Amino acid sequence: MKIAQFYDFTDKNIYYGILKGEKIYKIEGDVFCNFIEINDFVTLDRIKILPVTLPSKIICVGLNYKDHADEVKMRLPEEPIIFLKPNSSIVGQNDYIVMPNQSKRIEYEAELAVIIKKEGKNVPLEEAKNYILGYTCANDITARDLQKKDGQWTRAKSFDTFCPLGPFIETEVDPTNLEIKLFLNKELKQHSNTEYMIFGIYYLISFISSIMTLFPGDVILTGTPPGVGQIKKGDEVIVSIEGIGELKNFIK
Ligand code: MG
Repeated sequence: MKIAQFYDFTDKNIYYGILKGEKIYKIEGDVFCNFIEINDFVTLDRIKILPVTLPSKIICVGLNYKDHADEVKMRLPEEPIIFLKPNSSIVGQNDYIVMPNQSKRIEYEAELAVIIKKEGKNVPLEEAKNYILGYTCANDITARDLQKKDGQWTRAKSFDTFCPLGPFIETEVDPTNLEIKLFLNKELKQHSNTEYMIFGIYYLISFISSIMTLFPGDVILTGTPPGVGQIKKGDEVIVSIEGIGELKNFIK
């Protein structure tokens, strides 16, 4: 099932719905808890797809692909290295990523995003699966020069528009073996598979929830594979994940 949040041009309201072909069927209830699909649909040309969630926090994992660790010649971490992005950095499908004046080098990072379904603290590994609503595409946009200059990552990762997310939450895919790609101006720049993650998704949920309570709608970005690189004004960038979809954004 593919879940979307969207703005309906006709009645000017925001809804969650379920994508079926070129139609989205609206739901009643809480998308993170209990909901039912109703017999009221809109076509894709009558809506704008919105970011899938406005989370309380976005928890990101640095260096979580074996092939990326090889690329940057870093030892595999013993524990996940985590950092946060603010929810104000989120944009959705077809939205602009805005280059800030403070940086001379902005880079893309294609990542699989996990959407949390319910509140969790100290989630045991074997129960982590029950805390996942689904998966979507993310782009962990980074001001690489500021990341190096500051010595910590908050400024570099947190500018408005630095977290494209979407377009849909896929609830049924197996996240352990998915092709993940990034296209810059239609050219393939990143290509890997989620099977090369160092720390698996269930482990990450258990690990992160031992530090901070996870809430419904919270987002975990699971790290980027090799091939990160620079983006410039006028570029088009697409994160494509097998079974989930394509997240397209433009740079200005
Ligand atoms: Mg990243």
